[in-house]
Amino acid sequence: MVENLVIIGSGPAGYTAAIYAGRAQLNPLMFEGFSVGGVPGGQLMTTTEVENYPGFAQGITGPNLMKEMRQQAQRWGARLIREDVIKVDFSQRPFIITADETEVQALAVIICTGATAKRLHILGEEEFWNNGISACAICDGASPLFRNTEVAVVGGGDSAAEEALYLTKYASLVYLLVRRDRLRASKTMQERLFAHTQIKIHWHTVPVVAYGDEILQGIQVQNTLTKEVSEFSVNGLFYAIGHTPNTRLFQGQITLDEQGYIITKGKSTATNVEGVWAAGDVQDHHYRQAITAAGTGCMAALEAERWLSQKGSLSVPSLV
Ligand SMILES: Cc1cc2nc3c(=O)[nH]c(=O)nc-3n(C[C@H](O)[C@H](O)[C@H](O)COP(=O)(O)OP(=O)(O)OC[C@H]3O[C@@H](n4cnc5c(N)ncnc54)[C@H](O)[C@@H]3O)c2cc1C
Repeated sequence: MVENLVIIGSGPAGYTAAIYAGRAQLNPLMFEGFSVGGVPGGQLMTTTEVENYPGFAQGITGPNLMKEMRQQAQRWGARLIREDVIKVDFSQRPFIITADETEVQALAVIICTGATAKRLHILGEEEFWNNGISACAICDGASPLFRNTEVAVVGGGDSAAEEALYLTKYASLVYLLVRRDRLRASKTMQERLFAHTQIKIHWHTVPVVAYGDEILQGIQVQNTLTKEVSEFSVNGLFYAIGHTPNTRLFQGQITLDEQGYIITKGKSTATNVEGVWAAGDVQDHHYRQAITAAGTGCMAALEAERWLSQKGSLSVPSLV
């Protein structure tokens, strides 16, 4: 049997695509993935409260939000397989998708394999992850944990600059720890950073140890030139050192940018291969939010449904 639509990845983008495709009677098949995190649901499975996903006035935990999305996708008929896709062949039609134990043919594919925030793997990182250490200031910065406290941001690019500036809304002081003697951030961003009285930049500085008592209370940092170690009493440590898109599998099959993100066309989620779409963090290094991932998952399903209908490959009712 040839599948109408295979969705790869089970974060907010994948489940949203599955809900829309299921409602359009495409009978979608999803490979939920296994090796990234060991459970379906994507990045939000690693967090506690999600306070900015619309519809949950009191917030919702990441795992509960993903459980609801998964059940909603199943309710609309999505078939879920908990395996990693290990190979794709987009050079022939139908496409061939090979997972750990299953191989299928597909007319259309939506890639939603997400991205992984880079970590420093410093001492104490595991213990204080989500208890002071975070890879997303916009997600976690407003937490009471950081209100009127001192926090640190690691990184020297635009993301680090944006996160440092964002955190000044909540924290009393933000240390920006930069490994080198200059920033990669744009000139405008740099000017905003230098002018801000709540931001202190420390050059040649990297964190080496995180410590505290259940929640983060401080970090040890090292000067990369002198090797001297000093301490900052901070309640928050935010990594802004980049993300790695989960696209190794697609190298040579689809066009990626220099950072490995899938390139989508204009305002659509179409990739350079007709019949293949990409949604969520795997094609977005700018917003990286659950709601934007879900939004592009919706777009990808609508685009796939229209394409399949136009191709006459299927007889499906139109969704919109
Ligand atoms: C700690 C943390 C807290 C966050 N908090 C918030 C928040 O409060 N609010 C917010 O809006 N955003 C938050 N984010 C960001 C948000 O989680 C992401 O923007 C969102 O999850 C991206 O969704 P996605 O569907 O693109 O990908 P992901 O959530 O990354 O999911 C990708 C999926 O693809 C699967 N996969 C990968 N490779 C394969 C493969 N080869 N085969 C099959 N499956 C595969 C993975 O297993 C995973 O299920 C947070 C992120 C982190 C890390």
